[in-house]
Amino acid sequence: MDALPTGHFIGGALQASRSRDALDAMNPATGAVIGKVADASAEDVGEAVSAAARAAPAWAETPARRRGQILLAIAARMRQRGEELARLDSLDSGRTIAETRAQVERSAQQCEYCAGAADKLEGRVVPLGGASFAHTALEPYGVVAALTPWNAPLLQIAQKASHALAAGNAVVVKPSPLACFTALRFAEIAVDVGLAPGVLNVVTGGGTAGSALVADERVAKVTFTGSTATGRSIAATCGARGASVSLELGGKCPLLVFDDADLTAAATLAGRAAFGSAGQSCVAAARILVERRCLSALLPLLAREAERWRGGDPFAPGTAMGPLISRAAWLRVRDLVHDAVARGASLAAGTLPGDEPRGAGFFMDALALREVAPDARIMREEAFGPVTVIEVFDSEDEAVAMANAGPYGLAAGICTDNAARARRLTRKLTAGNVWVNTYKALDPAMPFGGNNASGINRECGIDGLLSFVRPKAIVEAY
Ligand code: NAD
Repeated sequence: MDALPTGHFIGGALQASRSRDALDAMNPATGAVIGKVADASAEDVGEAVSAAARAAPAWAETPARRRGQILLAIAARMRQRGEELARLDSLDSGRTIAETRAQVERSAQQCEYCAGAADKLEGRVVPLGGASFAHTALEPYGVVAALTPWNAPLLQIAQKASHALAAGNAVVVKPSPLACFTALRFAEIAVDVGLAPGVLNVVTGGGTAGSALVADERVAKVTFTGSTATGRSIAATCGARGASVSLELGGKCPLLVFDDADLTAAATLAGRAAFGSAGQSCVAAARILVERRCLSALLPLLAREAERWRGGDPFAPGTAMGPLISRAAWLRVRDLVHDAVARGASLAAGTLPGDEPRGAGFFMDALALREVAPDARIMREEAFGPVTVIEVFDSEDEAVAMANAGPYGLAAGICTDNAARARRLTRKLTAGNVWVNTYKALDPAMPFGGNNASGINRECGIDGLLSFVRPKAIVEAY
């Protein structure tokens, strides 16, 4: 593998950080330090925003079709360099190579979707009547700041940057320091294929760099994906200074299993939904709500399924899931599980974590708990690990009430063979995304995002793209 990129990508090239501070980049599968991540100072961040502000007017004037062509070229180059990008993401984030290969493809598709939509962001003529001519124009914001988490590093920058660029904005991305190398590579690729210097910049670092970026008055829109707590503080800053904000936040997503479902298929789906990516997914099925009539039939199937989900080498073929991102994450998930057990929860499937990770990496095997006390922390807090909680319901109404309980509203799944029931429930569930007999069915063409504590606004699809432009209403009278 080539040397890891270091520094910030500003004005079209990697440059050394003005800040001397650096953070360790760690391979979560081995615990080994693999490199350094520059921790941007406010000065570094300011320089990146200046580069974006300089480049923004010309990019906004670039014909939309040309903007789309550049996104197509980025997609093609990502596919060409797909194996390298996938390996870098697996090394940095611990996701299995099968997952990161799929994410390279999805990142390319995301750029292609936005490329195709770029010249379809049209204003409208509004028939006000009389002698006036009323119409709308969709204008870019200017400089967009994108703050991303570590759990899907390449896809996160590809998603946010492709929306912002297609709509004619310049961008400054601040990826998570826990996995940021493919974000730097993405920016290099964009400039290699013809994006003008300064249109896309990447500064690396932690929360201090992130808050400097969000506070910069020249940033007109912030798009953030990460935890609910951080999202709320970012929204407060944006609100105070009048910047637009989109938030893709946490969740505690339910998967509802009804007696009329194909239970073998439901158990397989539940395993993928709860334990895929070691549960480090905002839409992970952290709660499995089971109709009492099928509980005894489903539990052994779930137990068998959980055995398949063991943490292992992300690069080994056939590994179901990689490690947790850090020792701190491992200890936090362990504490949530141990707290639930101390309050009376029992193990329904899988393996309880011990007191320490079983090797140098941060591996945890999958598990499902049941009879969890309502006051257990895991009932309220996002675990972000390979653990799910089984709850039981007796009626459809009770299932809906349980699914909608709590502050989140990101995604929900339903396993049923009853189409009328599925239709009823898709309307009643408080969630931005609902999947019936499938899960994590994400696509660049489908809007994605959450309600309530899970977020504001959407990304992907036309709805997502529209949140990267603002309409101007024009009335002309002669
Ligand atoms: P995080 O909130 O800790 O960090 C997200 C980003 O914000 C990082 O780049 C981080 O450096 C930066 N940041 C941290 N503090 C900041 C501050 N005060 N001001 C500005 N920026 C700041 O989240 P994380 O641990 O990286 O990611 C996991 C979380 O992300 C989970 O809660 C998960 O549910 C959520 N997530 C949501 C989605 C979604 O689309 N809804 C997708 C993936 C992850």
